Amino acid sequence: MLLALKKKVEFFCSLGEDSNSNRLRIRILIWVSALEVKRVLPSKLVRLIERQVLEFKIPWTTGVDQRSPYEILISCVLSLRTKDKITSQASQKLFRIAKDPKQMVKIPLKRLERLIYPVGFYRNKAKVILEISRRILKEFGGKIPNNLGDLLKLKGVGRKTANLVLGLGYKIPSICVDTHVHRISNRIGWINAKSPYETELQLKRIIPKRYWIRLNKTLVSFGQNICLAISPFCSRCIVNRYCKKIGIKRFR
Ligand code: SF4
Repeated sequence: MLLALKKKVEFFCSLGEDSNSNRLRIRILIWVSALEVKRVLPSKLVRLIERQVLEFKIPWTTGVDQRSPYEILISCVLSLRTKDKITSQASQKLFRIAKDPKQMVKIPLKRLERLIYPVGFYRNKAKVILEISRRILKEFGGKIPNNLGDLLKLKGVGRKTANLVLGLGYKIPSICVDTHVHRISNRIGWINAKSPYETELQLKRIIPKRYWIRLNKTLVSFGQNICLAISPFCSRCIVNRYCKKIGIKRFR
């Protein structure tokens, strides 16, 4: 519809060649283009990005799709400041020994440290995992909470982890904002947010709910392969023409 409108505008404006009609033409075209960009944002862009990331290696979060809420939570704790590959290997090793809080609390601290080594801060994470597991047993009857408020009460669990557990573990629409989601959403110009929390709130206003759970997985893969933190591959990017490239100094 907008394309037809654009053609009509061009046709009528071409009838008069004076500078006034040219100015009017340009203003209307800018307005129509702005509407077009607005119209494609953000769900069409998410779909385009989803299409582009199909060709890339899947991020570790995909591997936890089929896991229980408890395993997702523990994987997420392990993943902080740790490479995806290491997280994935450590999670697999750990879950072969303990799949739920009851089994986890039976593991002595030193053994747990060895099991999750070499994830970053493995000593501290081993303590956190044991504490989370004990509290889940004591305060939640061994079941991972299925609401944000209770999840956030657990030590070492922030909004990122809590939203991932809700989304992947319980299929409750939630947006997990990590560094990729925060960076890309602001760069493209969907939102203007200073913190991951603001990003989450603003994205929830503009992204249809059906995309919330998978948005993290999509943008993580996109951020690892195309929209890199430094010098993104804009020339290969499927949403290049719609992206405002906010804050980009160097790109390829
Ligand atoms: S055009 Fe560049 S900055 Fe924009 S989303 Fe694509 S890679 Fe990222």
